[in-house]
Amino acid sequence: MTAKADALAFLPEEMRTFIADLGWEPYRADQIFKRLHAKMASSIDEISELSLAMRALLKQKAVIEHPVIAGRTVSREEATVKFLLRLADGKNIEAVLMHYNKRSSLCISSQVGCPLGCSFCATGAMGFSRNMTASEIMGEIYVVAKALGRRINNILYMGMGEPFYNYEAVMRSIRLLTAPEGYGLSQRQITVSTCGIVPEIKRLATEGIQIRLAVSLHAATDEVRSTIMPVNRVYPLSVLISACKEYQAGTGRRITFEYTVIPSVNDGPDQIRALAVLLRGLKYHINVIPLNPAGGGRPGLREALLFSKALDSAGLIYTLRQSRGTTVGGGCGQLAGDKTFSARQPEQDRKEDKKRWLKK
Ligand code: SF4
Repeated sequence: MTAKADALAFLPEEMRTFIADLGWEPYRADQIFKRLHAKMASSIDEISELSLAMRALLKQKAVIEHPVIAGRTVSREEATVKFLLRLADGKNIEAVLMHYNKRSSLCISSQVGCPLGCSFCATGAMGFSRNMTASEIMGEIYVVAKALGRRINNILYMGMGEPFYNYEAVMRSIRLLTAPEGYGLSQRQITVSTCGIVPEIKRLATEGIQIRLAVSLHAATDEVRSTIMPVNRVYPLSVLISACKEYQAGTGRRITFEYTVIPSVNDGPDQIRALAVLLRGLKYHINVIPLNPAGGGRPGLREALLFSKALDSAGLIYTLRQSRGTTVGGGCGQLAGDKTFSARQPEQDRKEDKKRWLKK
């Protein structure tokens, strides 16, 4: 038996080919694409433009599936909702919705777990399970948008996982999300955050898309960065920054550098001095993030404030980010797929994942 087509992952032109193979008229492809992406239909039965017979045939040939909302935690004071979403194979991921006046941003996951094991991150501690498909990423966005009942204005690929280790699916999801005949989000309302996967930073520069790039820096010397981010042993700072320069030369776009302040680890004067040298010649902005304890609790605001003042004195451009979602374990570095992952990945498997993903 041939596997059913994953209809939510079809780009408009692929949908047209699929529909032509069914012997249907081309306008049907546009109707279906619009229903799936502009109206966020989660089943073939919702495609009311098709007759019952056509829907029955489509069900034999294709599948549409959104994740299920398995839980949500609301923080009223922070205007944040953390969603626990269950994928079709029972794996759990998390997405965090943040409200800013009339706008909403959604921080989404692109992998189930993460192979990179950054020391300050709960996702890294749980190990890696698998990449998400493009349709799972779309479903993640649409199921939250439908629960919200209004449009999401910004999408941040900053949740569980390293988006550039799932490059193809992430790029496909961006093309689907920004297709004018679908959800129609502007490319500029999308941010992809990477821990510094150099080949894909260079590759992104050639894609001809206008999304925002954020790089998780978190330290300005190899010595410190390698202790908190194993990826730095593969792509040290000199290689990373040169890829950022190449990206900027190709796109002209400013890069955001994320810097989580870990007290007594990466907030010393040596790091500030090194940061000033590292970013020289780049169009950049630093986001200073207070450290969020992995199990929840008070973020390191005082240390982040002191670090920001030191950046000021060094003439560096930054914003001290307000920590959102920390009271519901939805802040940066706190996502851990709550329920499924209460049983953590064995240490040996984690080491093997790292070896596999971190080789050049
Ligand atoms: S910070 Fe990002 S790349 Fe590092 S372990 Fe966490 S999810 Fe993975």
